[in-house]
Amino acid sequence: MMSSDRQPLVAANWKMNGSLDTIRPLMGKLIEGIRADVKAEIVICPPFVYLAEVASLLGRSGMVLGAQNLARHDSGAYTGEISAAMLLDYQCRYVIVGHSERRTLYGETDVLVAEKFAQANKAGLTPILCVGEYLEEREAGDTDNVIARQLDAVISKCSIESFDQAVIAYEPVWAIGTGRTATPEQAQEVHAFIRLRLARHDERIADNVRILYGGSVKATNAEELFTMADIDGGLIGGASLDANDFLAICRAA
Ligand code: PEP
Repeated sequence: MMSSDRQPLVAANWKMNGSLDTIRPLMGKLIEGIRADVKAEIVICPPFVYLAEVASLLGRSGMVLGAQNLARHDSGAYTGEISAAMLLDYQCRYVIVGHSERRTLYGETDVLVAEKFAQANKAGLTPILCVGEYLEEREAGDTDNVIARQLDAVISKCSIESFDQAVIAYEPVWAIGTGRTATPEQAQEVHAFIRLRLARHDERIADNVRILYGGSVKATNAEELFTMADIDGGLIGGASLDANDFLAICRAA
């Protein structure tokens, strides 16, 4: 079971999907479906250009807004970048940092991810720090080393205290968008490792930080994942684009 004082969290990562025509009915269904029986905090992370629209649709639904990325600088000559302050202007409370697609497709290094985490933290946004291993790394028995490296880069730049205002998402790269989910036991093992790694620096912070699982979470497998001791919710890609699936996942949390 989840620790009683870690509120579950479910975050929707829409990635580069949607249009005004699809977002409006999707949000309508989510707002209607999020009832009092949903105990989890729900975060919607649309593409940047839809933040304003989603912010206005969210209204008093209780769901909150997040972004999928941010710049490592405050402001200036960085064409195409979006700063933490800009995200705050649009009521964002969360921002995904170091998603594996950013690391793999856009060359984001551990150092850059740590810089982005620091920017979010400094601005008062809560970073959702993604960590996860490739299939080859898992097969070579390197999962713990990879996760440790990714976490340590952020701890050494930002300090352990910064995790007082952060969420971690364990997303094995081989499970993202592939339909192949980690078993609850595989995920739990890594989540427990993440908590232990943080506990080396600060046990209270390690115990309080929420650790989400991401990687082909669906309505049909969410519950078994979320009942594991160190899994505090999910970061949901594909299934977050379907209101019924996403609502079922939110209820499972
Ligand atoms: C993600 O984008 O973070 C993700 C976990 O995607 P999916 O749920 O589609 O695997």
